[in-house]
Amino acid sequence: MDTTILVLGASGQIGTELTQKLRDIYGSHNVIASDIKEGNTEMMSSGPFEIIDATNKETILEVVKKYDVNQVYLLAAMLSATAEKMPQKAWNLNMNSLLAVLDLAKEKHIQQVYWPSSIAVFGPLTPKENTPQQTVMQPSTVYGISKVSGEFWCNYYHEKFGVDVRSLRYPGIISWKTKPGGGTTDYAVDIYFKAIEDKKYECFLSENTRLPMMYMNDAVNATIQLMQAKEEDVKIRTGYNLSAIDFTPKEIAAEIQKHIPDFEITYNPDFRQAIADSWPSSIDDSQARKDWNWKHEFDLKSMTSDILKNLNK
Ligand code: NAD
Repeated sequence: MDTTILVLGASGQIGTELTQKLRDIYGSHNVIASDIKEGNTEMMSSGPFEIIDATNKETILEVVKKYDVNQVYLLAAMLSATAEKMPQKAWNLNMNSLLAVLDLAKEKHIQQVYWPSSIAVFGPLTPKENTPQQTVMQPSTVYGISKVSGEFWCNYYHEKFGVDVRSLRYPGIISWKTKPGGGTTDYAVDIYFKAIEDKKYECFLSENTRLPMMYMNDAVNATIQLMQAKEEDVKIRTGYNLSAIDFTPKEIAAEIQKHIPDFEITYNPDFRQAIADSWPSSIDDSQARKDWNWKHEFDLKSMTSDILKNLNK
């Protein structure tokens, strides 16, 4: 059977690049982008696009039937910093969209589901360094609570109903094509834009706040690699730990200064500092590396060169 994919929440930071990569692999017309708002010009012109509210199961089903969709990537969500301001709205969006899609899979309208989790599933009691796959998960944020619950729903639908749902606990994702949507690691994207525009950046986290991060190219590749893995190789049905690099604001600033020597960083931590402090500083993703052969490509140095080269164009 041909693979036909529906991406929900395609106009966001990850969706914009993931959709394009999926279109390159599976053919533009086999990848239907959707969101509550239109995407960038490239997305809108390179293949089908539908307006879909990801919490509306009926609308999703109509589009699934219209295009004979067999895989859904559910990326619509409210992220960590925004969710703290609108807890109820975040819970409704993050949970209802997931349950709608899992139900469609249970009812056999679709065969495979991808849903991202996050390092936000971890909390202050979790071992901070090299955080293991199986460990304490007591998140202190609304977003984290929705991600832990989502992981358990995924696992439940897999165990009870045989739903083939797969998930990664993304670290902070760094990109230059689309700006991020209200997370705690957004500084590591903004810093590159400001370095080029103003040669200075005021960081909302303190200088030594170490967090797990990943370049978008690696995140997109990991996602597709997991979805293409043989079903029996996917041994974790909550969410896989996934990791590439970890750094502090001070370290990323120093790397940028190698390219822009007069770049200056100042620190003015806000409410996001407490969220960052509750998260791990590095992640052990050996299970993903073992089960489906995950390998990252970009480190801080190569990512910084690549981003600055592209933004300077
Ligand atoms: P984003 O905020 O950039 O994009 C989310 C998209 O969802 C937006 O385009 C928004 O318009 C859309 N959306 C909002 N409500 C919707 C609704 N009701 N129906 C349909 N679409 C709706 O987020 P992102 O960074 O691309 O994140 C995608 C997924 O990855 C999310 O599940 C997020 O929790 C997860 N994640 C992201 C990161 C990161 O660093 N970006 C880290 C960990 C996990």
